[in-house]
Amino acid sequence: MYKKHLKTYFGYDSFRDNQEEIIRAVMEGRDVFASMPTGGGKSLCYQLPGLMREGLTVVISPLIALMKDQVDDGLSRGIPAAFLNSTLESDETAEIYSRLYRKQIKLLYLSPERLAAEGYMDRLKELNVTFFAVDEAHCLSEWGHDFRPDYLVLSRLRENFPDIPIAAFTATATHRVQEDITRILCLKDPFMVRASFNRKELAYHIKPKTEVLAQISSYIKDHPRDAGIVYRLSRKDVEKTVDHLRNRGIKALPYHAGMKNEDRTLHQELFNNDEVQVIVATTAFGMGVDKSNIRFVIHGDLPKSMEAYYQETGRAGRDGMDSDCLLFFGTGDIVRQKYFIDQLDSSEEQQKSTDNLNRLVRLCTVNVCRRKQILAHFGEELEGNCGSCDVCNDTTEKIEATVDAQKLLSAVLRAKEGFGITHIIDIVCGADTAKIRDNRHQELKTYGVGKDKSKKWWRGIVDELIGQEMIYQDTNRYNVLKMTDKGRKVLFGEETFFISDATASRDSSTGKDSLFRRTALDAGPVDEGLLLKLKDARKELAREKHVPPYIIFSDKTLAEMARLKPETGSELLEVSGVGEKKLEAYGEVFLPVIREFVSE
Ligand code: ADP
Ligand code: ZN
Repeated sequence: MYKKHLKTYFGYDSFRDNQEEIIRAVMEGRDVFASMPTGGGKSLCYQLPGLMREGLTVVISPLIALMKDQVDDGLSRGIPAAFLNSTLESDETAEIYSRLYRKQIKLLYLSPERLAAEGYMDRLKELNVTFFAVDEAHCLSEWGHDFRPDYLVLSRLRENFPDIPIAAFTATATHRVQEDITRILCLKDPFMVRASFNRKELAYHIKPKTEVLAQISSYIKDHPRDAGIVYRLSRKDVEKTVDHLRNRGIKALPYHAGMKNEDRTLHQELFNNDEVQVIVATTAFGMGVDKSNIRFVIHGDLPKSMEAYYQETGRAGRDGMDSDCLLFFGTGDIVRQKYFIDQLDSSEEQQKSTDNLNRLVRLCTVNVCRRKQILAHFGEELEGNCGSCDVCNDTTEKIEATVDAQKLLSAVLRAKEGFGITHIIDIVCGADTAKIRDNRHQELKTYGVGKDKSKKWWRGIVDELIGQEMIYQDTNRYNVLKMTDKGRKVLFGEETFFISDATASRDSSTGKDSLFRRTALDAGPVDEGLLLKLKDARKELAREKHVPPYIIFSDKTLAEMARLKPETGSELLEVSGVGEKKLEAYGEVFLPVIREFVSE
């Protein structure tokens, strides 16, 4: 129904999941709540209706730094867009208002602090606003990880504009956050979308950490034409990593909170513009990274939480092309994080951080598809295994440990499923604690059956058993361990139990070579020579127009050009990502490059 507009303005042939339904709801004047993963294509869900609806669409976003790019992107597609925020000079602002009053703008990006200004709502009322889109809506919620008090001004939208539909978009929303958003924005019977958080284009690999600098540079050397981010925990490690990469001829720049603001902005810009291959950063680098052609995210250290890991890896592959997420894990990181946790003030925070840490250690060590574990954390079940992570590809060696599993499971059962991890391990190891004596657990048959092995070993077995859903922690009852049907099968010898090499050694030094994406572009018969020429042309054009290269065409679009080799305008239109407006604007730059290449 809206496909024609999709092709004309965006150059795409089909909608992604949920896009068409959301657009239809907006066109019908309904409120919308949409939680979709990064890269899911949220912007199009308000840009397209914004174009098609009468009047003005106002997009509220806290990411002031991104507004210019978003507007440039819109303009490059033929969408009359503009932004208003504190970065503009007063004459620029005046100019935009005059265009607004003349109805020459369809899409207006607005910062929350503008909206909060005295009398601003009344001013908006003069502008024939017919639709509000709220981006990054999770910033409204104290339960979210990016709460922004200034976003609360949005709670006044509904009373000021009772009949105008509001659509809220976010990439991270637990049910609690979702409730906050719908309540604060007063959404009326919104059309609800909770999209899958499965990022199929990301392949998760977790490797034992040995010589992390060499491991990082070795991967990057194998992917010389791919852009990527390396995350390190400390500033010092960021600097060390940058030096190491530079000494090996890799263009890399640092990004961390200790740097001057203007340096950070500059580094981010150079990265956006494909002038440097790699940004090495602490987690300070994040919000506002909109570059769509990031092909890899490497974690040199253990991230803080599953949420952080999902967010940080999520910056790769926004253009939908296959990308690698690579994490190097060593037990040293556990020690280091425990040290940080000990420094925290409240015991509540310590508990929360410890839970986060344990969850990540389990992700890294147990013999269960990584993607399955990540999705399970967000309450989503993946049927079967993903087939693309390192566990699925069998690159982590598996070790049979059925007998040990049985020892532990039997302790769980004999302790009447009423005790937590530490105590169960104490039973198996034959520890002499007050709790053991109080419960007379030294009399259990399983007491001490595992004292030939370390507590660490048994902790690994517990994590594997939890990961493989043979036991679970009952969060309603002090996290006591309980057994599942699957666990019973192992206990009674009906099933064998394997653990990963990483669990067995928790810091092994032998990493098997994995099945990395060779480079994303090897996927189809893409002509690499042509691709390089197209990228050069794009870079030159981007410089001329003062926009990042991916705003001209994404990597994916260029790769498809290098595969299809279109020589006429209508052939070029066949390429995904090329719409009429871009054909008109850039056809005469790219077509000659292709024609020349073909004739040679
Ligand atoms: P989000 O805001 O959800 O993180 P974006 O709106 O930035 O995602 O979209 C991510 C990328 O996907 C952009 O490059 C966008 O142009 C592209 N995209 C969006 N919708 C489609 C579609 N239907 N077909 C192909 N590419 C799309
Ligand atoms: Zn998998």
